[in-house]
Order: sequence, then structure tokens, then C-alpha cells
Amino acid sequence: MAVQQPRVTLNDGTSIPQLGFGVWQVPPDVTQRVVGEAIAAGYRSIDTAEGYDNEQGVGDAIREAGVARADLYITSKLRNGSHVRDKALKAFDETMDKLKIDQLDLFLIHWPVPAQNNYVEAWKTLVELQKSGRIKSIGVSNFDQNHLEEIIEATGVVPVVNQIELHPFYQQRDKVEFHQKHKIIIESWSPLGQGSALSNPVITRVAEKHGKTPAQAIIRWHLDEGRIVIPKSVTKSRIVENFDMFNFKLDSDDIAQLAKLDDANGKIGPKPVDGNFLF
Ligand code: NAD
Repeated sequence: MAVQQPRVTLNDGTSIPQLGFGVWQVPPDVTQRVVGEAIAAGYRSIDTAEGYDNEQGVGDAIREAGVARADLYITSKLRNGSHVRDKALKAFDETMDKLKIDQLDLFLIHWPVPAQNNYVEAWKTLVELQKSGRIKSIGVSNFDQNHLEEIIEATGVVPVVNQIELHPFYQQRDKVEFHQKHKIIIESWSPLGQGSALSNPVITRVAEKHGKTPAQAIIRWHLDEGRIVIPKSVTKSRIVENFDMFNFKLDSDDIAQLAKLDDANGKIGPKPVDGNFLF
């Protein structure tokens, strides 16, 4: 029996599980196993990308999982080098071939890559794919406010999510108001600071107070603040631990303690404006 888990309603009327499983840096040859373990642990949302080179393994896992397709929520992301329409359509076809599904739940523009200046064309192509019925919801990742304003202005279509780096050392509080105003849900990537936040004494104390692990305390913080969160692990016990989240909540004192960890130099990944040429 699947655990009752919270879902977040998106601005297009659909909904997504609030806690998902991220697969960046999960090697292709173990992806099917790892995603299979995540689904067995209760996760129903998987976050992959064309640039992760593991969509095939995600597709194999969801086919073998023994869970109805309708109960799973699959996100992928458009490659940086495929923003122009023809390339984007081709890249999307490849994604669907690898995932072996008829409709994708959520497709994101992975990075705006302003140097290419093709993210408006990419967004128009996602709108077209959504209208054709091949994608349920469309969103973006690593978009700054000006990128968001530009794509909304050009199409009238507001992304359902913006997936951005967000963890205790990089809280991006200045982004909240604009996203709330446009009903764009913030989805936290590297939610555990790629593991760096787990040994922090403040987090350890909060976790101990609730009889939980540091990873659980941080994931709970994202959930309590209303964000979608997609932690990653390839270790079965941690995959299970990171989903065992639905029997406690942080209190206002914990949240105040965590707020103090925000750090102007806490960013780990590249800045949206620089783009990320890995993907
Ligand atoms: P994360 O913050 O989820 O940290 C993952 C690491 O933390 C693991 O590799 C492991 O070392 C450690 N860890 C996880 N659970 C643990 C536990 N219970 N106990 C101890 N250590 C634990 O980092 P991430 O993988 O960078 O981010 C999560 C997901 O976010 C990615 O897999 C991907 O799906 C997404 N992401 C998106 C972008 C983007 O540009 N859109 C960028 C980075 C990540």
C-alpha cells in the first residue's frame, strides 16, 4: 500500500507529488535499479533530464515497477543545445523514445542559456508540444526573473514550476514574492546542498530534537515551506530514509534556526545567467 503523500496543485490545474526523486549523476547502468528502489520505497515522481543520459534507465524502471503509469509522475528537461524549434522537437522525440511513454507529465527548459538567446523559442516549442497533448505540464529551470518575464510576455503561458538551486545555505528568499505572484511553484534542486548541509551542527540539532536524520530534517524544511523537493541518492537505505517524511513537522523555532543558515556565498552550481554548458 502506497504511503499517503502530499501533492502540490500547479497553475494549470494539474498536481505533482511534493516529494520526488532526482537522478542527476546516477550512472546509466544503475538507473533502472535505483529508480526501481525509489518507486518501491514509495516515491511516485522522478526527475530526470536529457543531459543526465539516464532517461532509458528511468523508462525501464517505470515499465517494470508494477505501478500504474497514471500513478507515476515523470519530469524531463530540454538540452541546452536544443533550444531552437526543430532541435527541440527532435530532442523531445528522443526523450519519449527513451522513456517509452505516450505522454510526459512535466517538461522543463533545463537552463535559459542567455548567451544563445533562444529560450523564448524553446518555450514556444514547449507550449506547442503541450497543446498537441504530448506533455501535460510545462515549466522551466534556472530561470531568473527577467527570463520568466520574457517568456510569459511572449506567449501568455506561465511555467508551472521553476526548478532552482535551493538548500539551507542558499535559500533564495528574494525569489519568493515574484513566484507567488505568478503562481509558479519553486522546486528545489540540490535540496541537501549535495550532501554538504548534512553535517551542519544546527541541522544536526534540529534533526536530533525530532529523532530524525539531518537529511530528513532538511527535506521536511522544504516540504513545510511549500516547495517541491527532489533529493537524490543511489543507496537503498538513504532512498528509503529520504522518503520516510510524513510523520513529523518542524516547529517555528526550527524554521527560524534554519533561516539563519542562508549564506551569500552558499551557491554551489552555476548562475542561471552563465548557463550550464554541461547539458
Ligand atoms: P542533493 O542535494 O539531493 O544531494 C545528494 C547527495 O546527498 C547524495 O549524492 C549523497 O551524497 C547525499 N545524500 C542523500 N541522501 C542522504 C542521506 N539520507 N544521508 C546521507 N547523505 C545523503 O543533490 P543533487 O543530486 O545535486 O540534487 C537532487 C536532484 O536535483 C538531482 O538529482 C536532479 O534531479 C536535480 N538537479 C537539477 C538541477 C538543474 O539544473 N535543474 C541541478 C542539480 C540537480
